[in-house]
Amino acid sequence: MKALRMERRPTRFVAAYLASTFGSGRGAGVGPLRLGDGPSPRDLGPGWTPVTPLLAGICGSDLATVDGRASRSFESIVSFPFIPGHEIVALAERAGIDAHGQAFEAGTRIAIQPVLGCAARGLALCRFCQAGEVGRCGNLAHGHLRPGLQTGYCADTGGGWSDGPLMAHQSQIFVVPEVLTDDEAVMVEPMACALHAALRCPIDVTDTVAVIGAGTLGLGVIGALNFLSDAYGLARPHKIIVGAKYSHQQRSAKDLGATDVVEPKQLDRAVRAAVHAGSMGFSGHLGELSGGANVTFDCVGSADSIAQALRITAPGGRIVLVGMPGKISVDLAPLWRREIELIGAYAYGVEQLGDVSIPTFDLAFEFVVAKGLGNLVSARYPIDRFEEALAHAGQAGSRGATKIVFESSRSTKHRKDDA
Ligand SMILES: [Zn+2]
Ligand SMILES: [Zn+2]
Repeated sequence: MKALRMERRPTRFVAAYLASTFGSGRGAGVGPLRLGDGPSPRDLGPGWTPVTPLLAGICGSDLATVDGRASRSFESIVSFPFIPGHEIVALAERAGIDAHGQAFEAGTRIAIQPVLGCAARGLALCRFCQAGEVGRCGNLAHGHLRPGLQTGYCADTGGGWSDGPLMAHQSQIFVVPEVLTDDEAVMVEPMACALHAALRCPIDVTDTVAVIGAGTLGLGVIGALNFLSDAYGLARPHKIIVGAKYSHQQRSAKDLGATDVVEPKQLDRAVRAAVHAGSMGFSGHLGELSGGANVTFDCVGSADSIAQALRITAPGGRIVLVGMPGKISVDLAPLWRREIELIGAYAYGVEQLGDVSIPTFDLAFEFVVAKGLGNLVSARYPIDRFEEALAHAGQAGSRGATKIVFESSRSTKHRKDDA
C-alpha cells in the first residue's frame, strides 16, 4: 500500500525543523516523512471497517509535525511509524455500522471523526466518552491500539495520506449526506473544530468578537458564529472584527459574515475604535487597550497572536485558543491583571444547542453545505507530489489558497453536478 509514513528518527526531525525555518512545509523534503510501499493496517476486529480515502486534508498541526515543530507533549500519544491525515472523506470497503448505530453498505461515502477514544480502543467508556466529549478522552495511549490521539497519529489505524485502506472504528464513522461534494465532505473535520470553538464560550448580541488569523480555522469560526445564529437562533455578536493578511482571506471573511476586516497590524486599532477604548501603550510600543473585545478567537496559536489577544481582549473577557499552540513564551501579566479567561478549543464531541444535543460532525455537515465551504479547498494533489503539496499548504495564505488536500484517483465528486 502506497502511503506517506512518519518515522521516529530524531535527526530527521531536527533537519525538518531547520528546513522549516525557510518556510512552513519545507520539512517535507528532509524530514521524517517518507513516501513508499508498506504494509496495510491489520484488521482491528469487530466494529472496524477498512475504508479508502478519497480526499485527505493538510492542516496546521500536520505541518507542525512535518516541520518538527509540534509540542513535545504529543510524544506519549502518538506511535510510529504513522500515516498522517486526519481530515478524511473515504469510501467504505465493507458494509458496517456508523456512529449512530445505523447500518451502511459497502461503497458508502463516510467522513471520519478521527479521535481514537475509549470505544475505538475497546475500553469501558471514560466519563468524557460517555458524554460524547471524545476530544477530552484521557485513554489515548491505552487499550488494544497503540498510542494515538487521532487517526493520522496512530501506527495501527493507517491514515488519510495514503492509497488506503485505513481502518475506521464505528465510533468514528459518519455517513456523508448525498448532497455534499467531496470537497465539502473533506471540510467537515476542520469545520467541526471551528464549530466546537465557536461554542466554547457564550456570546451575547452586544458582544464585540475579535478573530486573529483568517486561514481555515479563522474563516471557519467566523462562518460558524453566523451559521449558529442563522440556523439555531444563537446570539449573533454585534461585531466580528477580523485581522486577515491576504486579499482572498479578507474577501472570504466578509462573505462568511465578518463585520470589519482589517490587516492584522490594524486589528488593535480596529477593536479599540469599535469599543471606544483607549490604548495604554507609549510611543513605539503596542499597548493593552483599556477596554476590548468580549471574546477573542486566536486561530493562530503563536506567541505573537496570544500576546495580541491579551492586548485586545476586554478585562473580564475570554480568549479561545483555536490554533494549536506549542511551547511558547508569553507574558501573562495582562491575563492576570485583566482577569481574562484563556479557553482551549480542541476537536469536537457533542454540542448542546438549547434543548438540542447534536454531534459536532452532524452539525458540521449542515454548516459546510449552508456556507458553501467546499470552496475553501484550493488545490488537490496526488500523494506522489507530497513535497509540492506541503509547500503549498505551508504558504497557503501568500499563494491565495486556504485548504490543500491530497486526492486519490477514486475521488470524482468535486462539484454539485459531478457524478
Ligand atoms: Zn486538523
Ligand atoms: Zn474516553
